[in-house]
Amino acid sequence: MTAATRRPTRIAALNARRCENTDTELFYGDKEDEQKEARTECRRCPRVVSCLRGALAEEAWGVYQWGVHGGLTADQRNALRAAALLGERPDLVQARSLVRSRFRYVLEDGIRDNAPLQVLAARISAEWMPVSVLTVRVAVWWLNGEGSLVRTKTPGDTRGIRDRVLDDFVPVMLRLRASGARQRDVAAYLGAKLSMIASILSMLEQEQRDAVTAEQAVAA
Ligand code: SF4
Repeated sequence: MTAATRRPTRIAALNARRCENTDTELFYGDKEDEQKEARTECRRCPRVVSCLRGALAEEAWGVYQWGVHGGLTADQRNALRAAALLGERPDLVQARSLVRSRFRYVLEDGIRDNAPLQVLAARISAEWMPVSVLTVRVAVWWLNGEGSLVRTKTPGDTRGIRDRVLDDFVPVMLRLRASGARQRDVAAYLGAKLSMIASILSMLEQEQRDAVTAEQAVAA
């Protein structure tokens, strides 16, 4: 084989999708350890950025999504769609560089210490260049971290998770709902349990209906 014929083969091998040579079922498993294994394959895949972009572009709201694509689960991809409703978009190329640079260790330490995403973004921005919380969130997901907006808390914060959601996230939850997000999309965006978010949203939306009814009664 000449160098001329060897070169394209090597390039093709370097660019090959990891899932081409892996059990496809792994990418559609519903067990957490299967999803983690698939996501680890994605993290090593040269196509991870374009694959995730493609999945986000092709999957539509309201359609049942499943499987791991671009290193993220269906819920994590839903979280990114919900973020887009708020005008937030991750820089996927920057997220990729975070997991391949020395910042990978900053992120892994943060995952181990359960550090809030905002703290990780601030650390990286101070040392390197400005990076958004959402970009850090994608990098944390690619490293198999939880990347929840509500499950981590800053030291000294003694509030329970429901109180923190009610204190800190009501405006964003209502904005998402007003933009067409389903309850499960809001839960995915926050990284919280659907049952808790559904119960809080039902309460908030009932309060809104009651307020409208009271205004109409006053106006009548
Ligand atoms: S990033 Fe996409 S192409 Fe690569 S292994 Fe994962 S699912 Fe396959």
